[in-house]
Formats: sequence, structure tokens, C-alpha cells
Amino acid sequence: MTAPNVLDVIIIGAGQSALTTAYFLRRTSLSYLLLDEQPSPGGAWLHAWESLRLFSPAAWSSIAGWPMPAPVEPGNPTRSDVIDYLRRYEDRYRFPIQRSVRVDTISRLDDLWLVQAGDQHWLARAVISATGTWSKPFIPPYEGRELFQGAQIHSAHYRDPGPFAGKRVMVVGGGNSGAQVLAELSRVSETRWVTQEPPAFLPDDVDGRVLFERATARWKAQQEGRCIDEPAGGFGDIVMVPPVREARERGVLVAGRPFARFTETGVEWADGRREDLDAVIWCTGFRPALDHLRELGIIEADGKVQVEGTRVVKQPNLWLVGYGDWTGMASATLIGVTRTARSTVDELVQALAATSLQRP
Ligand code: FAD
Repeated sequence: MTAPNVLDVIIIGAGQSALTTAYFLRRTSLSYLLLDEQPSPGGAWLHAWESLRLFSPAAWSSIAGWPMPAPVEPGNPTRSDVIDYLRRYEDRYRFPIQRSVRVDTISRLDDLWLVQAGDQHWLARAVISATGTWSKPFIPPYEGRELFQGAQIHSAHYRDPGPFAGKRVMVVGGGNSGAQVLAELSRVSETRWVTQEPPAFLPDDVDGRVLFERATARWKAQQEGRCIDEPAGGFGDIVMVPPVREARERGVLVAGRPFARFTETGVEWADGRREDLDAVIWCTGFRPALDHLRELGIIEADGKVQVEGTRVVKQPNLWLVGYGDWTGMASATLIGVTRTARSTVDELVQALAATSLQRP
């Protein structure tokens, strides 16, 4: 194989986290390239369900440098507003992006990273992984799940209620996805909602903006070694967006605890009661998409990687951006990722400068 040119940085992914990181890299003299599996801009938003809207107004849903334009229709931005914003953001800053490239693995080659995707490969001094979670839907183990003859899909692949009209559908999961999918489906299907614990609903006036302000206050207090009185409710709790409020008014926002096992035609409860179902929709979350790092032996039992800030502890010149609070406070949100993207690039610039100085 012919030796490719050595880049300073490769970013794996081109969703909101990768683009925000690229925004800060663009202001340095480093060479960089983004590699993204998707054929078009938008990251995970390309796969969200049709009716999904952001938790916050556009002014509170922007990444670094260029604010999200106000949406055409009133209300919080829609999924397509976000995709359009990310597409225009890419164009505006002319980021070098290679698409339809799925990185299979990265490995060390002397003091460089060898990044491989099928029969393509690149060399880089540093790698930033920003691959999100969408491609790793999580379904908890349930006895007899393979027996059930009805349909099963994860919210990662749910698009709209059409295919479930007139059917008996169980929605499993007590987060925002569960509440929103249930709200929408319950207009056309016979629904049942199952959650591990009773769902935690936020007050009606708490949106993504308020949650971000609270998380920021908590983060600042931690930095300064202070304790603060915190209102109840966090990022995982259910935001009462209009469709969820409307479902509450219809009396369908009622969750029960899990069943004991699946049967061929539905589920069986601990007391022996059986219920027939046509479909189950798993709104049970995601895990970090880190398969391309598996061969490095750095993925812990919980599916995460040990990091200091965003820097991987057990490998040199490797950073992770945007996966959740464990890679930076609110870093899995549009408004929250700027802080970690900026600090990642600052750190990376220093690390590469130090390596250059060590070279003979
Ligand atoms: P992604 O957007 O997933 O981008 C990662 C990119 O990397 C993708 O294009 C992917 O295809 C690519 N990729 C993955 N693996 C590879 C590989 N091996 N090689 C090459 N490319 C790869 N966020 C908000 O800010 N506001 C909200 O209101 C909000 N509401 C939400 C509501 C719901 C119900 C859900 C489920 C999420 C919501 N989010 C919201 C969160 C948001 O959707 C995600 O956190 C965000 O898309 C993560 O961005 P990212 O760039 O880290 O990852």
C-alpha cells in the first residue's frame, strides 16, 4: 500500500460534535480531515423520527460561531431545521469532509495513528472520535424476547406512527424518547407504556434551556468547590413538550412496571396475566459508538473509555467528544458541546506542539 500524507488530525464523524470541534481546529494552522459514515450532512438527526423538535428555541440550540437561524414555522426547531443548519454550517466553514466512509479501526504505527476504512487508510498525528451513539441502540435483556412473533423496533429506527395505526403497541422506556413516541402513537394505536421506575416529569415550564442553565450552575459550583441547592430534575427527565402535555391531557401518559417475560403473542406479567401485542417499541437508550476503538483495548465493561476531560488516558493523542456527561458537561447537546470542543482543540494543539519539540 502506498503511504498516504500525514495529517495533523483526523476527526471520525461529522455530526454536531465533530463540526463544532472542526470549527476550533479551523482556527489553528493544523491540517485536518473529517470522515463520516453518512452520505449527507446531519449526523444522528438524519435518523430521528419525523415529528421530533428540539427541547429549546433556536437561540439556545446553536453550536460555535454561527447561531441557528430562527425556524420557518413557530415553535422550537424541527428535525429538518437542525439538518439544514448543520448542512449550512458545513458549507459556511468549508470543512474538509469525506462521506460514506465508515472507519473500521484505528491503530498505532510508530508515533502516528493509522485510520482504516475498508481498503482506504490515512495517517494522522492525533485522532478525535466524535461518533455519537445513534448506531448503538441498547435493548435490555428480557426473558423470551426471541419468542415474540410481533414487530420489535428500537426508537433509533422509529420514523412515524403510520405502520402502527390500529395496532396494540407497547412502548418500553421512561425517558424523553419513550414519552414522545408514546404521545404520538397513542393517537392512532392502542398503547401500553412500561418503564423500569415511575417516569420523572419535569415541570411544564422547564425546557432544554433551563436544564442547560442548571447544569452550568452545577458545573461552575463543582469547579469552585461550592455546594448549591439544586431544583429536582436533570437532563434525563421528561421535558413536557407540547405533544407530551397533550397526551397527559388525554390521560394516556400512564406507565406501569415491566412484565415478567415475552410469549409468542405478547407478554406475561408476574401474576400470570397475559397480554397480546402486535409490536414493541424499545425506547431504551443508546451506548457510545466506539467499535472502531475496540482493538486498542481501552473500552471498559460499561462501554465507556477512561478519559481525563476528553483525552483518553491509556492512549496518546486520542480524544473523545460529544458522547455524554462523561466526556464533558452537556456535551451531547448542541448548546453544550462548544465548551468541550474548544478545550479539546486547545489541549490537542499543546500536545502536538510538545511532540514536535521532542523530535530531533
Ligand atoms: P451524531 O449526531 O450521532 O454524529 C456522529 C456521526 O458519526 C454520524 O454521522 C455517524 O454516522 C458517524 N459515525 C459513527 N460511527 C462512525 C465510524 N465508525 N466511522 C465514520 N463515521 C461514523 N440534542 C440537543 O442538542 N437538543 C435537543 O433538543 C435534543 N433532543 C433530543 C431528543 C431525543 C428524543 C433524542 C434521542 C436526542 C436528542 N438530542 C438533542 C441529542 C442529539 O440528537 C444527539 O446527542 C446528537 O446528535 C449527538 O451528536 P454527535 O455529533 O455527538 O453524534
